[in-house]
Amino acid sequence: MASSVSRPRAARAPRGRAPRVGFVSLGCPKALVDSERILTKLRSEGYEVSPTYESADLVVVNTCGFIDAAVDESLEAIGEALEQNGRVIVTGCLGANPKRILDRHPQVLKVTGPQRYEEVVSAVHAHLPPRHDPFLDLVPPQGIRLTPRHYAYLKISEGCNNRCSFCVIPAMRGRLASRRIDEVLREAERLVGAGVKELLVISQDTSAYGADLRYARAQWRGAEWQTRFIDLARALGSLGVWVRLHYVYPYPHVDEVIPLMAERRVLPYLDIPFQHGSATVLKRMRRPAHAENTLSRIAAWRALCPELTLRSTFIVGFPGETEAEFAELLAWLEEAQLDRVGCFKYSPVEGAAANSLAAHVPPEVQEERHARFMERAAAISTRRLAARVGRRMRVLIDSVTDGAALARSEADAPEIDGVVRIGDAGSVRVGEFEDVEIVASSAYDLAGRLV
Ligand code: SF4
Repeated sequence: MASSVSRPRAARAPRGRAPRVGFVSLGCPKALVDSERILTKLRSEGYEVSPTYESADLVVVNTCGFIDAAVDESLEAIGEALEQNGRVIVTGCLGANPKRILDRHPQVLKVTGPQRYEEVVSAVHAHLPPRHDPFLDLVPPQGIRLTPRHYAYLKISEGCNNRCSFCVIPAMRGRLASRRIDEVLREAERLVGAGVKELLVISQDTSAYGADLRYARAQWRGAEWQTRFIDLARALGSLGVWVRLHYVYPYPHVDEVIPLMAERRVLPYLDIPFQHGSATVLKRMRRPAHAENTLSRIAAWRALCPELTLRSTFIVGFPGETEAEFAELLAWLEEAQLDRVGCFKYSPVEGAAANSLAAHVPPEVQEERHARFMERAAAISTRRLAARVGRRMRVLIDSVTDGAALARSEADAPEIDGVVRIGDAGSVRVGEFEDVEIVASSAYDLAGRLV
């Protein structure tokens, strides 16, 4: 069999119809925002977005390369798109390592790295030219979003200046590059104007926002704002929608946002990837703010804002993790009483500094620690949710099926946290706020009835 692969020439959509691009978006919310930007640009040029491989003239796969499992998933998705459609452009985090993709799938048309919007769009032009039509479809001013209409991710920066030893994102996505605050706020305004009820602020390191721009000043709504975490929270808090902060590190200046949460200017919710509770492990992980006494900070935050929901992720079985360090983590978790917790077993990522650390933890020990950790986290979550039974809370309706609704409270981020189930949802509508009384709880979810 011949080993060379002939490159297909540029395709053209049949006369009279717009060229159609299929889109597969893998990975985290940050990758989703990248996908939305690419789609917005393509739609503004008259491309249609195809829901199936068969009806697409070409497929873009936005990949994730964060951990090996994500790499495998991305490579499989590329294979599936090639099999079903045959004409595939690859972008996203895994695109930072084109060799890995081309070794397995030499027939892809083009590989571009993360945030290379223009390159992706140019590659689409080269392989599927846009239709010359003076009456191109106009893009709605808020762009194309892949999330439901009532919530949207707001990406405030790219890249990261930290050097966590298990992570290759800074190598893939580069150093911190913040968007100026006025640009972010204008996007937020457009989203709210288009019906968005909840803004989810994302980045790799939200608390570092603006440091690379030396906290540049800008005008918005007749006032001066700095490109800085606290100004962003204040300004977004004036838009009258839910504002949820993700990927915040516990630097001292994060304390300033807690009073805004107590006043409900922004949601009393912080997503802080603590990753571990042992100071020695955190040091080996080279985590930002690893020297902070996080337990006393958490206690101070809760004293100011008792409703604060804390979500976090952890890694167990990090190289060199001893049983004593793991026990420290469990004790930390017990004291911190976090509301929402995710946990990963450490797995080496190609190119990460942690790979060369001594004493990798055997898989069976990782497995056992993961189970113990999740058991403890589930018990904490169960207790904390049970304490909400009988209380009233405001929820945002995400979906309604057969008279029942799935909603979220202030404490639930979409897709990663729990839900509030409403059995008899009457005439509630998706994207509307409702008040419910909590009538039951489980390990991760609540049940409520409309009041
Ligand atoms: S903060 Fe650490 S884990 Fe997060 S992107 Fe930066 S280097 Fe990676």
